[in-house]
Amino acid sequence: MRYQTYLIKYAEIAIKGKNRYVFEDALMHRIKLVLKQVQGDFAVSKAQGRVYVDCRGEHDSDEVIGALGTVFGINAICPVVKFEKSGFSELKDRVISYVGEEYPQRNMTFKVCARRADKTFPVCSMDMNSMLGEAILDAYPDMKVDVHDPQISLNIEVRESIFIYSKQIPGPGGMPIGTNGKAMLLLSGGIDSPVAGYMIAKRGVKIDAVYFHAPPYTSERAKQKVVDLARIVAKYTGTICLHVINFTDIQLAIYEKCPHDELTIIMRRYMMRIAETIAGENDCLALITGESIGQVASQTMQSLAVTNEVCDLPVFRPLIGFDKQEIISISEKIGTFETSILPYEDCCTIFVAKHPVTKPKLSVIKKSEERLADCIDGLVAKALETDEVINVI
Ligand code: ATP
Ligand code: MG
Repeated sequence: MRYQTYLIKYAEIAIKGKNRYVFEDALMHRIKLVLKQVQGDFAVSKAQGRVYVDCRGEHDSDEVIGALGTVFGINAICPVVKFEKSGFSELKDRVISYVGEEYPQRNMTFKVCARRADKTFPVCSMDMNSMLGEAILDAYPDMKVDVHDPQISLNIEVRESIFIYSKQIPGPGGMPIGTNGKAMLLLSGGIDSPVAGYMIAKRGVKIDAVYFHAPPYTSERAKQKVVDLARIVAKYTGTICLHVINFTDIQLAIYEKCPHDELTIIMRRYMMRIAETIAGENDCLALITGESIGQVASQTMQSLAVTNEVCDLPVFRPLIGFDKQEIISISEKIGTFETSILPYEDCCTIFVAKHPVTKPKLSVIKKSEERLADCIDGLVAKALETDEVINVI
């Protein structure tokens, strides 16, 4: 069947009371943006707590549904048949031909769920349910009614127009981007951080990102991989402003002056400090990392506490309780996995100690950092000057 209209269902937005229009407008704005990438002419509108996408002329339904599937805030996408109101007998004919076309096997269980929002329509919802159900049984004798667990829930909505739909394609859920402020994602080339960014963005948070690059120890290809990952995440989040910071001199200084089993933890603390500075300059209200308890030495409870100590902003770690396999499943679903596993080196892997501390003590780490006192402020300032901003679309 060819559809010209898609009904967009959203859940949480609907409960936002007086601010609801802010959420709806953000949702519509994002829908319009993603549909710009799709061939066709689309109109996005809202009416009575519903958002509709109307397509004028030719379009590819799979492409439209694929694009809408990247919009946070959408719970389900329903391809609908929409027509002007006339009498009940015309509605009955439309319903019969809809079922015939949409389910050519015509031997399934069904239930009619009619909703008469326009009370001037002459037949009430209950009567529509039974009369349309009977009409379907008459037209297709192999169909059966099952009101408890039907294969087809046939929705008929009588509003300013009449809508028929029976398919709901799940959307990503969450809240529209931009309705919950902005946060700074520490984005590496690994599996975890792109997933962490996706998860926080799903709650309506706009994302900026920072990547710590260590040339010549990490290659241009490693940096390109991060840009590629940001591009995949940006399909969901909209443009990501990616800050690439040259971290080499800081890493070398730590390597030279600090105990090697503490390298990773001290390095992580400087990453967080710099990320927080850039976050502050860019109106970000939190940091995001891909950390998960116990995954590596720098993510034990003790290490996380020592890393966290340098931050004043809240640090969001949405993967904190996830197993690696659960994180991988999400990365496969959102399309970052294949890029994440490309084998380019990462600055953490090059300067890593054979036996990193797993239970660092804050006082000991602070003492070790004192060895950097004569150079670190200058190196951090210099690193901040290297900030290369890439707008990833
Ligand atoms: P990921 O898979 O996200 O790289 P990981 O398992 O490799 O994570 P770590 O290397 O300990 O874990 O990094 C923990 C978190 O620190 C990452 O999820 C990311 O948020 C941040 N991070 C690590 N390296 C970098 C980097 N080079 N640039 C920016 N952020 C980084
Ligand atoms: Mg990593």
